[in-house]
Amino acid sequence: MAKTSTIAIVGGGLVGVTAALALARRDYQVTLIDRQAPQIQRGALGMDIRNVALSPASQALLDSVGVWGATPAAPYQHMQVWEQWGNSELSFHAADVGALQLGWLVEVSPLLAHAWQQMDRYDNLTVWTSEISDVDVSSERVEIETATGARGSFDFLIAADGAQSLVRRAMNLDVQQYPVHQVALTTVVKTEQPHQHTAWQRFLTDGPLAFLPAVDEHLCSIVWSQSGEEAERRKAMDEAQFCREIGFAIEHRLGAVTQVDQRFSFPLTQQRLPNCAPDPRVLLIGDAMRVVHPLAGMGVNLGLEDVQQMLEVARPTVDLSAPGLWTRFARQRQVRAQMMIRIFSALQKIYGSSDPGLALLRNIGVASINRLDGLKQQIMREAMGLTATGASS
Ligand SMILES: Cc1cc2nc3c(=O)[nH]c(=O)nc-3n(C[C@H](O)[C@H](O)[C@H](O)COP(=O)(O)OP(=O)(O)OC[C@H]3O[C@@H](n4cnc5c(N)ncnc54)[C@H](O)[C@@H]3O)c2cc1C
Repeated sequence: MAKTSTIAIVGGGLVGVTAALALARRDYQVTLIDRQAPQIQRGALGMDIRNVALSPASQALLDSVGVWGATPAAPYQHMQVWEQWGNSELSFHAADVGALQLGWLVEVSPLLAHAWQQMDRYDNLTVWTSEISDVDVSSERVEIETATGARGSFDFLIAADGAQSLVRRAMNLDVQQYPVHQVALTTVVKTEQPHQHTAWQRFLTDGPLAFLPAVDEHLCSIVWSQSGEEAERRKAMDEAQFCREIGFAIEHRLGAVTQVDQRFSFPLTQQRLPNCAPDPRVLLIGDAMRVVHPLAGMGVNLGLEDVQQMLEVARPTVDLSAPGLWTRFARQRQVRAQMMIRIFSALQKIYGSSDPGLALLRNIGVASINRLDGLKQQIMREAMGLTATGASS
């Protein structure tokens, strides 16, 4: 494929827009299609409720496409992990791997809105704000139709249209499901004491609870995985009751929880597509190819890893639809997705039991890991995206 060949990217979430900017920088003709442009959203405590923890590898990629530095990003230097049954804790410190931070907490809507603005800088990047309704892939072209009747014909298609991917459904591609039976309750809380630039995570029998540090040292973004019934009960509580309950659940590590923003809940799932390059003209990336449990804050990071690895194949002037071009990429992404889903499923099983014998074993295991500096450094490098193939190049 020559430099001027056309690529359609369906989905302008963080993964799709990063791919669009990176490919436009490489002189490809890119069309990004999303049902709507992002709007900046802020809740009662002044922050977007939707936040993600980004790794240093993700930050480097966003920086390389001009998307870093203009919107709020809260660095965190420490991570503290403990559980409901027992007193063993895991402490991770950025300094132990010679880094200034383990990652950043970013508000999604301002970052996304800024990324969309960056697309104006490229003459070879067109944006369609429309919902796609059909995709037809032949050996010659990819035809895309939108709900408003517009049609486009492209050489190559990148689907970054999220967990419910229409591209995936239009191509009859089945995902493998790994049921989670939990929902995530998300919100923002204000705490009496500052968060100390630490990501706090406590494993409760019902599911993990994370307090993720925001730019304001007294605000934390909350991701609390739990059963659907518990989430409904906690969403219905009045503010004072909820603050007491979540303060108790995190053992008042940051003093009292004094305020809570609006509460949302999302059903959780884990799923993966066995082959993210099902046709020489089609690649699926981000949540369209794999969804993982949010307990380790890896979803966007894995999606941006897809983009980073994709860029190693999509060098300027490469024929993107050449047979076999994406085979190695697809295999690597598949192995990574499978590994992550296995780890999160295992953690859920291990921590989901209140059996005293298992709790004792867990605590012995955690105490031992906490003393093993080498292993902890390896875990940190993994979470920071410094070990994934190609992530640092
Ligand atoms: C509670 C919770 C907490 C999380 N925390 C973290 C975290 O800390 N760190 C992290 O890395 N990840 C986290 N994640 C995961 C992360 O949110 C997802 O992995 C990420 O949003 C996926 O990005 P994406 O761009 O692939 O898809 P999406 O963000 O879902 O974007 C898909 C885009 O496609 C568009 N689209 C869909 N269908 C169509 C269509 N038919 N036509 C046109 N456009 C379409 C949508 O409008 C959307 O803009 C969390 C997830 C949850 C549920």
